[in-house]
Amino acid sequence: MGSIDTNDEAYSKPLPTAFTPLDPEDFRKKAHTMVDFIADYYKNIEKYPVLSQVDPGYLRTRLPKAAPYLPESFETILKDIEKDIIPGMTNWLSPNFFAYFPASVSSAAFLGEMLCTGFNSVGFNWLASPAATELEMVVIDWLANMLKLPKSFMFSGTGGGVIHGTTSEAVMCTVVAARDRVLEKIGTENIGKLVVYGSDQTHSFFHKTCTLTGIFPCNVRIIPTTQESNFSMSPVDLRRQVEADVAEGLLPLFVCATLGTTSTTAVDPVSDIAEVASEFDMWVHVDAAYAGSACICPEFRQYLDGVEKVHSLSLSPQKWLLSYLDCCCLWVKEPDLMVKALSTDPEYLRNTKKNGSSSVVEFKDWQIATGRRFRALRLWLIMRSYGVVNLQTHIRSDIQMAKMFEGFLRSDPRFELVVPRTFALVCFRFKPFKDGYDESDLESLNRKLLDRVNSTGRAYMTHTKVGGVYMLRFAVGATLTEESHVRAAWALIKEVACVLLREIL
Ligand SMILES: *Cc1c(COP(=O)(O)O)cnc(C)c1O
Repeated sequence: MGSIDTNDEAYSKPLPTAFTPLDPEDFRKKAHTMVDFIADYYKNIEKYPVLSQVDPGYLRTRLPKAAPYLPESFETILKDIEKDIIPGMTNWLSPNFFAYFPASVSSAAFLGEMLCTGFNSVGFNWLASPAATELEMVVIDWLANMLKLPKSFMFSGTGGGVIHGTTSEAVMCTVVAARDRVLEKIGTENIGKLVVYGSDQTHSFFHKTCTLTGIFPCNVRIIPTTQESNFSMSPVDLRRQVEADVAEGLLPLFVCATLGTTSTTAVDPVSDIAEVASEFDMWVHVDAAYAGSACICPEFRQYLDGVEKVHSLSLSPQKWLLSYLDCCCLWVKEPDLMVKALSTDPEYLRNTKKNGSSSVVEFKDWQIATGRRFRALRLWLIMRSYGVVNLQTHIRSDIQMAKMFEGFLRSDPRFELVVPRTFALVCFRFKPFKDGYDESDLESLNRKLLDRVNSTGRAYMTHTKVGGVYMLRFAVGATLTEESHVRAAWALIKEVACVLLREIL
């Protein structure tokens, strides 16, 4: 690394060379090198520990205290990525990554991302990049079609959809639409009466998102779930809570049902929840961030049954549909409500061609931010390059591998499957003794198991605790994962478990 020069005198020196930040030939050369670098990273990814082994603060001590005054060469920078950055990476694309929900990727999505970044179109409204708006409308309908969503969610029907960055943004926009619909009738001074509902398995974004929209924190209701119902929300309990709130003079506003909860992929009964909600005129949102992607396969579509009764649905292809970050698709039945709540109309963004044509979609009015990326290119490239047939194969193959892992567990009486597997996540724990051990012993045993497996760098899993039970999560879904990796991970888990057992006996 070059020496650091931070005094004012140095900053006032004349420029050493002509400065051309975007020279097409220079870009071509370096971008080719970078693609080679990334391809090599993918090819050699198993050489790196999956879970980064560095300590907090490792990077600050390795890098200079200030930005270089003089330019550094691309080669030097690449070397530092290898030397300083990659060791600090938890390698999400490693085939031995079984943590959280893996982020699935693909060459097609990467190529789409290259175009998206390459064009850098800031398509806040139609005129700012007609193709960006119109392609987004096309791919969002294509995906709706693949999911067999009713026409009421599609641009070709009476609804529509939009690509956001994350589920938090998507749900925030729908809560605001629901909120304003009701406040218009009851007056903004009554915002403190609005109540929203989720379960104790609803993703943690929900509380934050709702309170950001002005819902009082004390009005975010969490319906408890139980192991007997596999941690899915009970419509009976929901109704009981809603009725209690109404009796208190409060106003039920919004309920978030989850298709595939983050801890254990529990599925809330969408249809029954929507029935309860409709009696109280509540907005129903379905958060299908992870498991929604499986519904492109006919054998999983049943989990979306009842979706025709809900108001909005979100799904993040960045999780399981081979897209890179960030990509969350949101469909709404009444986009007008969202647009009404979120639209802005400053003079400097007036869109001449739109005037008089109400058919033009202004996506800035469907989201929080004004600026937006041409994200649709990624989904378009994915769908065209692989076809629905291969996307279904991809989902099925992950589920097949998860089934295989489930089979390994079932064949070994020292392990317990804690909840039934529905998609490509297996929740289990090591339980070598029939009795004489309580929950906290089992928890500390499984914590140790997890820690030791992860510290080998040969596999990475995470844990969760649901209904008081500490369990390990084995999530299949990293794009490079093959059966051999699942077998190796199982062998590693067993090997570590045996060592642990010997230590405590
Ligand atoms: C991962 C996850 C989220 C967060 O999704 P992002 O789109 O990545 O923000 C929300 N809900 C569920 C059920 C999830 O699994």
